[in-house]
Amino acid sequence: MDLSLNNISTNHSEKIIKVKMVILGSGPAGLSAALYAARANLEPVVLTGMQLGGQVSLTNTIENYPGFPEGVGGQDLVDLFQKQAERFGAHIEYDSATDVDLKERPFRIKTYNSEYLTDTLIIATGAQATQLNVPGEKELIGRGVSYCATCDGWFFKDKDVVIVGGGDSALEESLFLTRYAKSITIIHRRDSLRAGVILQQRAFDHPKIRFIWDSVITEIMGEEAVKKVSIKNLKTNELNELPTDGVFIFIGHIPSTQIFVDALDLDGHGYIKTDKLLSTNVPGIFVAGEAGDPDYRQVVTSAGMGAAAAMQAIRFLQEQEENQPVPIKS
Ligand SMILES: Cc1cc2nc3c(=O)[nH]c(=O)nc-3n(C[C@H](O)[C@H](O)[C@H](O)COP(=O)(O)OP(=O)(O)OC[C@H]3O[C@@H](n4cnc5c(N)ncnc54)[C@H](O)[C@@H]3O)c2cc1C
Repeated sequence: MDLSLNNISTNHSEKIIKVKMVILGSGPAGLSAALYAARANLEPVVLTGMQLGGQVSLTNTIENYPGFPEGVGGQDLVDLFQKQAERFGAHIEYDSATDVDLKERPFRIKTYNSEYLTDTLIIATGAQATQLNVPGEKELIGRGVSYCATCDGWFFKDKDVVIVGGGDSALEESLFLTRYAKSITIIHRRDSLRAGVILQQRAFDHPKIRFIWDSVITEIMGEEAVKKVSIKNLKTNELNELPTDGVFIFIGHIPSTQIFVDALDLDGHGYIKTDKLLSTNVPGIFVAGEAGDPDYRQVVTSAGMGAAAAMQAIRFLQEQEENQPVPIKS
């Protein structure tokens, strides 16, 4: 960061940096917020976290982000987001928030390298899909392994796919995939589902869906793309291989909000609670993207929330300035 900037005062010995806005996260939500805040001359500081570009950087091609009729590489898209935000004065810092003190303004954000005092905070720390952690999974992400039916269902037209999970989202996503896939095999580690009864009935009744019970995937195999999975029956320990074109994993989605547990209101699943204007229970702190969104979980929706959160933060700062007591002239 260029510390000569006017609105950033520093104290090098304590490494405390005073800014108007800190944005946590460099995914679509964080970088879109950075663009809007930078264009309002706030010179926001974006702390990238460990995953530069966020989840989208893991995927080869995004086909549902408007403006790219031929699709766009996930990494290419977030590189463009970053370049555009930097063009207007956003500062990208390769650092993570490790602790926060949000009791009073300016808010205090501790990182591995520094400490920030900020007038507003936008939290765009996203989420992570729970992984199976089996051989082949990481290597084949975007080449048959997926965590999002809305994102990738289209690639599986008339193909055979396997779903892992037994909760509501596993069944909802399976039913969604019946629009595309030829067959859907749900592999579940127990002999009954956790999902709601109506969803269960719809899945049981669907001619494209079948179940393999009491079983887990032990390996996902394929060179260029997924070809088959190895399945273990937990009751008999029997191992079988099942040819498939895709593996969709829906065993949980964890928002990256652990450092806010004692500082902000979270829901029972760890998503930060907001009102419809993306404000948290602490004035001046806003949430964008998957850190507060269990419902949509898309690049375009996260980017939209980033823009909206930044607009709210800009309004908040304006209101604060307008309410400042005017100094009496002597
Ligand atoms: C494999 C895959 C494929 C996908 N494909 C598509 C698709 O085709 N279309 C689509 O619309 N969506 C797709 N998605 C979903 C999409 O990527 C997400 O909805 C989107 O990235 C969410 O954006 P976000 O900015 O809220 O969070 P994220 O992308 O999760 O980014 C979170 C950011 O916060 C940072 N961070 C976390 N903790 C801290 C901290 N303590 N301090 C500072 N920074 C922190 C991380 O480093 C990261 O930069 C896909 C997701 C995956 C995993």
